[in-house]
Amino acid sequence: MKKLLDSFLTFFKSSDEESFYYVKMERNEKCYCGSGKKYKSCHYPDHQKKSKLAVRKIDEITGEEEIKIMSIKKLRKEHSLVKSSVH
Ligand SMILES: [Zn+2]
Repeated sequence: MKKLLDSFLTFFKSSDEESFYYVKMERNEKCYCGSGKKYKSCHYPDHQKKSKLAVRKIDEITGEEEIKIMSIKKLRKEHSLVKSSVH
C-alpha cells in the first residue's frame, strides 16, 4: 500500500512540471462555448473589447485540451508557448 501511495505522489510531482502549449482559437472556428456559432460572431467581439483571446491549452503529454481566455498581454509574454493552429 505504501509503495502504491509513493508512486501516486511521484505521478503528481512529475505532472507538476508543466509541459503544455497554447493554440489560438481561429476566428472561423466554432466557438468553444458550444453555441454552434463561429468564434468571430460569438465571443470574439467581447474578447476583443477586453483585449482577450480564447486559446486552447494543450497538454503535450496527454493531449488534453483546456479552453482558456487569456489577455493578449499575457499571451505575448508567453509567446514561446503559443503555437499556431494546424489548419
Ligand atoms: Zn461563444
